[in-house]
Amino acid sequence: MIPISKPFIGEAEKEAVLAVLESGMLAQGPRTAAFEERFAEVCGVEHAIATSSGTTALHLALLANGIGPGDEVITTPFTFIASANSVLFVGAKPVFIDIEEETFNMDVGLIEEAITPRTKAILPVHLYGCMCDMDSIEAIAERHELKIIEDACQAVGATHKGRLAGSIGTGTFSLYATKNVMSGEGGMITTGDRDLAQQCRMMRNHGMQRRYYHDMLGYNFRMTDLHAAIGLAQMAKLDAFTQRRRENAAYLSERITSVITPKVPEGFEHVWHQYTVRITDGRDRDTAIKRLADAGIGTGVFYPVPVHMQGYMRELVGDVSLPVSERLAKEVFSLPVHPQLSKADLEKIVDEVNKL
Ligand SMILES: *Cc1c(COP(=O)(O)O)cnc(C)c1O
Repeated sequence: MIPISKPFIGEAEKEAVLAVLESGMLAQGPRTAAFEERFAEVCGVEHAIATSSGTTALHLALLANGIGPGDEVITTPFTFIASANSVLFVGAKPVFIDIEEETFNMDVGLIEEAITPRTKAILPVHLYGCMCDMDSIEAIAERHELKIIEDACQAVGATHKGRLAGSIGTGTFSLYATKNVMSGEGGMITTGDRDLAQQCRMMRNHGMQRRYYHDMLGYNFRMTDLHAAIGLAQMAKLDAFTQRRRENAAYLSERITSVITPKVPEGFEHVWHQYTVRITDGRDRDTAIKRLADAGIGTGVFYPVPVHMQGYMRELVGDVSLPVSERLAKEVFSLPVHPQLSKADLEKIVDEVNKL
């Protein structure tokens, strides 16, 4: 089976973890600090704050931006559930707007009509590794004095007009095992704002600067040095990983003709966390996926149910209709694009997909 994702675990990762074990210091420490420094550099920001997951990074980023009860946050329903759940964690309300068919990202033309006096932030999600139209989002945010929290969990290294994901608003990243760069579990917050960075650091560790003196309500959202050691070893390979993903995506796009392949608009550099196609013309997705599985090709559906249609979310946001999201959720599936694919794997994927 060609898996939809395959974490790269090499000698460097193994040795780094062993070295932490042998040091006897497993909790957040010097490896986490080194990982943060490296991650900040790669994202072109002053500060990176490591957390236990992408979800806790989003949670802290919203808190540090002062988002709380009574506030509304405009976001996309076409994402992993954590993007919207983090808004609920801080007591605010997610307001879902529809997406663009071409990029799967929030349709920036719909943001302004969703703004109310309660709107405090926009939470764009750079889905599959392609950034949202951040120029437009930034202009709207400035006009209406809104914060921007970027869910860049799938988009480390992606750019829009040369600007990196996570360097525009408060950035949030996931280092979950299947992400482009991973630490098993983990997350990062990126920011140029020193005070915001400091707030995040305190909140991730029980609101504490001086041991057992607590200045605010905080959490245990720390990363361990075991995880940081893996992440740090991965950072050395990130550019090569991304390059391979781009080559693999180009190979697939040049040859696949049976389904709609993803387009990258002018001015965007995609990092291909997922290579997502759409199956249309009345063909059934489940049948297609089953045929590919029988031929030894793993696929994934990201995501089968838009967030506004999940049961508990529907109770909170009511019966909103977002037709593009709802239609695309039935059409999308992702093909393997990860750096460990061989030439033979790619050929096989093209052959089998073109038989659909
Ligand atoms: C992975 C992911 C998250 C959550 O990250 P975790 O590390 O799994 O908590 C949030 N948003 C998006 C878009 C993701 O892909």
